[in-house]
Amino acid sequence: MYLPHRQVADEATTVIRPPSTISNSQLYQAIVYNTAMKVGVVCLVGRPNVGKSTLLNNLLGHKVAITSPKPQTTRVNLEAVYEDDRGQIIFVDTPGIFGKVVDSLSKRINPRAEEALSRQVDVVVYIIDHTREKDFEENKAIGIVRKISAPKILVINKSDVRTPSHRVQYRFLEEEFDRTIEISALHRKNLNTLLEAIFDLLPEGKPMVDTKALVQPGLNIESKTFLAEIIREKAFLFLRRELPYRITAIVDEVVERRGGALYIKARILTTDDRYKSMIIGKGGSMIKEISMAARKELETATSKKVFLELTVETDPHWMDFV
Ligand code: GDP
Ligand code: MG
Repeated sequence: MYLPHRQVADEATTVIRPPSTISNSQLYQAIVYNTAMKVGVVCLVGRPNVGKSTLLNNLLGHKVAITSPKPQTTRVNLEAVYEDDRGQIIFVDTPGIFGKVVDSLSKRINPRAEEALSRQVDVVVYIIDHTREKDFEENKAIGIVRKISAPKILVINKSDVRTPSHRVQYRFLEEEFDRTIEISALHRKNLNTLLEAIFDLLPEGKPMVDTKALVQPGLNIESKTFLAEIIREKAFLFLRRELPYRITAIVDEVVERRGGALYIKARILTTDDRYKSMIIGKGGSMIKEISMAARKELETATSKKVFLELTVETDPHWMDFV
């Protein structure tokens, strides 16, 4: 997983890197002429299903975090970089903060969310879904956010939905936050206002990430986790009801072939042979569909031609290793 470091840019204020390594001219100007740039880590926090991944995807304009109508699909802290002439934002999408610890997997997700928050965070974006009632889970998330001293933005998502609305239950939060912004992540409503607010609250600094080193702006192709999440999302999509959380995807190999095509070798792991045959389907029809959809999505995400070799394995213990 890509970890941003503040030391990426040198301390010198004259030419820091040759122009060829700077991703856009304004950024280059900002570095060379030392004009003020806003840079920092922004943590997206919120209950499962409030729209964190949707927001991240639509802010970045391409798919980075996975979204799903099922909660708890984000298991890792995905990081993505947003960059324009105002500066650079490193987004961290935390896994859902769960009210109940149901299995060995979610036991490990909770500490991860808190870990992401305790790392250096410059701005917290706390997302609520006004269409759902405030509950135990929400209170827990609020408790965690209260402990962070960074500036905070309250984002009320799903503004496109009028009813049901439990907006009044969240009203008290507004005075605890530096800003309150209503958005629709899905319909990209008010996302610019949100970006403005984030840049406003971020400290001045130099770029933390050399986006030119990423295969595609904002996406670190080295992160096999990211590619695996796309494969897992597609598997979920086709197997929706049958096996909610009994699967994971692992990418074993990513090779860039001549001509720029990516060869990706991956496995879907499941806990039981019974699930394995479901994933494979009659005559391999299901795995073929999953493969095809995943390959398309991987091609969009990487802007490259993708060859995907996808197999299915039974491993009753995979949950112990993630
Ligand atoms: P996460 O668990 O917080 O990452 O939530 P997701 O981004 O996966 O979104 C959960 C569900 O809410 C998905 O079905 C999204 O399509 C939906 N959703 C997200 N943002 C909006 C929004 O602004 N309006 C509406 N109507 N639905 C949204
Ligand atoms: Mg998510």
